Amino acid sequence: MKKYGLLLTGVMGLISHQATAISIVFDYSYDSSGFFADTQRVSLLNAAGNALGSRLQDNLGAITPGGVNTFDASFINPGTGSTATINNYNVLDNTLVIYVGGRDLGSTLGIGGSGGFSAGGTQSFIDSLNRGQTGVDLTPPTDFGPWGGSISFNSTANWYFDTDLSTDADIVGNDFYSVALHELGHVLGLGTAGSWNTWVNSTDATFTGNLSTLAFGSAVPLYSDLSHWNTGTMSTVDGVAQEAAMDPNLTTGTRKLFTKLDYTGLGDVGWEVSAVPVPAAVWLFGSGLLGLLHFGRRNRKS
Ligand SMILES: [Zn+2]
Repeated sequence: MKKYGLLLTGVMGLISHQATAISIVFDYSYDSSGFFADTQRVSLLNAAGNALGSRLQDNLGAITPGGVNTFDASFINPGTGSTATINNYNVLDNTLVIYVGGRDLGSTLGIGGSGGFSAGGTQSFIDSLNRGQTGVDLTPPTDFGPWGGSISFNSTANWYFDTDLSTDADIVGNDFYSVALHELGHVLGLGTAGSWNTWVNSTDATFTGNLSTLAFGSAVPLYSDLSHWNTGTMSTVDGVAQEAAMDPNLTTGTRKLFTKLDYTGLGDVGWEVSAVPVPAAVWLFGSGLLGLLHFGRRNRKS
């Protein structure tokens, strides 16, 4: 008996000291238009998910309904725009599930946000809904632990699906990889989480999160929707200047990676952001917030 207890302690210690990443898993079951019936598009989306998930070191707990414990996940159906609900939804640890699809979004390139839920059951089950991110339950919230969410891509946009992400020299049209990163940012809480709103000063439209303020040099000006950095906000990628990914626009023919400021935004929302990608402990194939956020098209003249 005692030996068994010691063994368990040792295993738990090992797990808690292991750097892990978050597995971002995409689900295509609501892609009624067949936008992702193309392996290149799936490959690019997975690359975007891995780029961000590999930088997140949080330990997200599982949500396991059963018996008196219920967990009904709701999200925007990416194929229709209406609300979808899945009853008794199981959430795996260290995993986010994102429902993706395409539909006509008019002049908007993508819409992304975290999912919501309704739940009931024992107190310990209710306590597990923050996925171990205790700051979710503070007032105001200082952390974020969604189960996942959904992203819709505009099925009528003039997309560029890159076959070689190592260069952005040949982009024509709207870079899908850039928009995927931006919408993933919304699913991860940028512009959508309660812990994002904690740092929004609506009086002067600035974001006052500590990490972002330090990176930017002052409180960060926000776009009028208070869910994006202001249009044209600059930061850096590996020391090279680039317009931030989470401003509202993407210039046709260009790529935007996540900048230092975009990552500090994730940190201010509550994510434990690694300076370099970390390996996943497990790669499994396996939001009360609904952010209806746009990614407007900017047409460069000439
Ligand atoms: Zn956006």
